Amino acid sequence: METAKKRNGTEPTLLLITLVVWLVADCGLLPYQITKNYKRVVTLKLSTNTAINYTMGYSQFILIMEKEYKTTKEQCQSNIDKRMPIVCTCCGGKIEPIETVDNSHNPTFWQGCNECMKFDNGTSPKIYETAVKMVDERHFRAYSFNEMPDKEKDPSGFDYWRKSQISGTVGVVSDALRLYGVL
Ligand SMILES: [Zn+2]
Repeated sequence: METAKKRNGTEPTLLLITLVVWLVADCGLLPYQITKNYKRVVTLKLSTNTAINYTMGYSQFILIMEKEYKTTKEQCQSNIDKRMPIVCTCCGGKIEPIETVDNSHNPTFWQGCNECMKFDNGTSPKIYETAVKMVDERHFRAYSFNEMPDKEKDPSGFDYWRKSQISGTVGVVSDALRLYGVL
């Protein structure tokens, strides 16, 4: 179960780039180098015949760069809408776009459940309901090695255990239906 990693920070990234440019030109051709972008121009004459023209300039650019999402929130939402109705495989709740970064650290949106704080592609409500019945009524254990926490002593532990069992069972039910040729 992967935990959703949310990115903090402001939307536009301010990038301050300082450029320092040195230009050397022959004064025989030009009195000094004219470069419009430069805020400061210094001309030094080293001799009467040959002058070396130093043009020192610096310029600062503030570039406002918009974040480029691999998958935008709208694209992610559209992918969810195409597969509706779908619910979270753990809690049966809403599947929404969750902001994150991919393995190359590019900002993106993935499908997931904010309630469970996990990425989840969701499943059909019917498959989810079947998985709930298999876990609660038939005591099916997709993860049999995970010991069931005591419901009274450790309610949150039990809740987490139950949800993960349901999610695992969703996988089993989906696979069975796929083999059966329904999915
Ligand atoms: Zn959920």
